[in-house]
Amino acid sequence: MHDVDIQIKEIERALHNEEFRFYFQPKVSFVTGKILGGEALLRWILPDGSVIMPDRFLPQAEKSGLITDITAVMLPSLIEEIEAIRSIRPDVQVAFNVSALDLHSPYLIKMLRSFIGARRIDPGNLQIEITESAVVEASQRIQATLNELVELGIEIVMDDFGTGYSSLDVLSRLPFSAIKLDQGVVRRMSEDAKNTQIVRSSLSMARELSIKTVAEGVETKGVYVYLMASGCDAVQGFWISRPIPCNDFISLLEENRKWPSSSLGLLYTAWMNHNSYRNQVLDSVYALALTEKEEWNHLPKTDLVHSPARCRLGGWYLSEARGNGGSAQFKLLEAPHRYMHAAGETLVNAALDGGSPDDIRQAIKAFIDYSEAVDAEVGNIVERWLGEALDGEE
Ligand code: C2E
Ligand code: CA
Ligand code: CA
Repeated sequence: MHDVDIQIKEIERALHNEEFRFYFQPKVSFVTGKILGGEALLRWILPDGSVIMPDRFLPQAEKSGLITDITAVMLPSLIEEIEAIRSIRPDVQVAFNVSALDLHSPYLIKMLRSFIGARRIDPGNLQIEITESAVVEASQRIQATLNELVELGIEIVMDDFGTGYSSLDVLSRLPFSAIKLDQGVVRRMSEDAKNTQIVRSSLSMARELSIKTVAEGVETKGVYVYLMASGCDAVQGFWISRPIPCNDFISLLEENRKWPSSSLGLLYTAWMNHNSYRNQVLDSVYALALTEKEEWNHLPKTDLVHSPARCRLGGWYLSEARGNGGSAQFKLLEAPHRYMHAAGETLVNAALDGGSPDDIRQAIKAFIDYSEAVDAEVGNIVERWLGEALDGEE
């Protein structure tokens, strides 16, 4: 069949003949190296067994509006497959792509609510992927649908991140819990440093906003380990597996295979979050010192997390220490980190309460000293881990 030959009538017929199937592409956690779930991708299987890829029929289906029929017909069969997958892995996360048209009408929510109400799946078993371009002009209707999905407990993922124009604005307005780095940008990292920079700044921005990150289009081990070290959360790509039929996906889950993993990225992410706290404290004190009290309610709003347990670095060593039977090496980080956050609170309060310049100067010094102690300890941990990785290579 030739591209231009695919008519809407053909697609409708195929839908009624049940020629559409989902293939599943696994998504692996960089932290555990295990499969977390997968993405459901539409395939048109002709009676002779040949497969037509979505880019050959979805654009027409989208233009004609038939896409909403495809979603409505395919969603129940996807739920059935998720039920089968759940019997192997109850916490599996299957991502499903929806178009802007699907978000315009209430049927998507209605169907999902009934599947979840009937306890056939947990809301955590399903994620909805939408592209930025589908929601740039987010109408009130689309916003309302997205909010309802989130209320149901379903996560929304922004697909193809790094290709759009207004990602930041859209990200802050809509309830996304993760971004998926565009596969083209990820693939071109091996050719062009600019793409590497786009990926790195997307990862760091997501970190600042506490949004999870998934990389797509990973075709080589080199790109895989680079993203792992950069603190990306999860990964999809041909290097792990192509999209495969549901039964094969279930067999893959049963194998319980493990890909390379490292908690270095997790530490890196936690440390960045902690550094962002340090910079925000210093910037706030600086801004307070340079302005009159009357000006203070015009200062940009910040979210200073003084509690050490709520800092990601605090969360990191708590969970590492737990996982390693309270291992002493993480304990060395605990005290300076706790003191630093306490010093941060004292410093900001001194600046707010109009403490004397000397008090503030002293508070700044204490804060910076503890901050350096934290950095040195993180450096020690990283050095030890890299050493272990090199030993492993010998
Ligand atoms: P997408 O959502 O960005 O999906 C990822 C595409 O990248 C998939 O193509 C996948 O096979 C491909 N891919 C994944 N890893 C690699 C890799 O390492 N290298 C390369 N070269 N490609 C990789 P696919 O299955 O052809 O899907 C194309 C697009 O069709 C999807 O892009 C999505 O926008 C759309 N689509 C697929 N299924 C559905 C669906 O059920 N509903 C809707 N509305 N759209 C769908
Ligand atoms: Ca997708
Ligand atoms: Ca994508």
